[in-house]
Amino acid sequence: MDSAEYERKIAARFASFDQDGNGYIDREDFSAAALAVLAEFGTTARSDRGQAVLIGAEAFWQGMAGIADVDGDQRVTREEFVTGAAKRLRDHSDSFAEIARPFLHAVIAVADPAGAGASASRAATARVLRVLGTAPEAAEAVAAALDADADDRISEAEILAAFAGYCGVELPDS
Ligand code: CA
Ligand code: CA
Repeated sequence: MDSAEYERKIAARFASFDQDGNGYIDREDFSAAALAVLAEFGTTARSDRGQAVLIGAEAFWQGMAGIADVDGDQRVTREEFVTGAAKRLRDHSDSFAEIARPFLHAVIAVADPAGAGASASRAATARVLRVLGTAPEAAEAVAAALDADADDRISEAEILAAFAGYCGVELPDS
């Protein structure tokens, strides 16, 4: 990957975290993502599954802030993300998986209750990707790519690996 391509991927990743597009990543982006998932799957915020998604989103934000909010103002700017978070997430993909895991686990449980948080169907995974900002026409292809063994189940580990790989959950090169 050359540096221009790397920068392009970082910019795309920043945009996917900056859900409301106001130029920085903060707690609101994570709670907005959580609420969008709950709305998509008709789950109330006060239900046990809904609470798990919201709590997971808060933990994800706290983890992200710990890695990337260099000046401690509760906002991760593009500058902080590019200079700090991107490299640290790449060098410490295991810790990124750990901070993302509770959120992803809860989201998978909402998206496909039959999987009990351990796995989701390809269709449910595609819906999650779309809600979280993946282009609709790409979400199916990304989910299909994640379902490497084509059994129509995508495991939490497979979804986490894609996140931990950091560039894993994105458009196939297009
Ligand atoms: Ca934002
Ligand atoms: Ca900051």
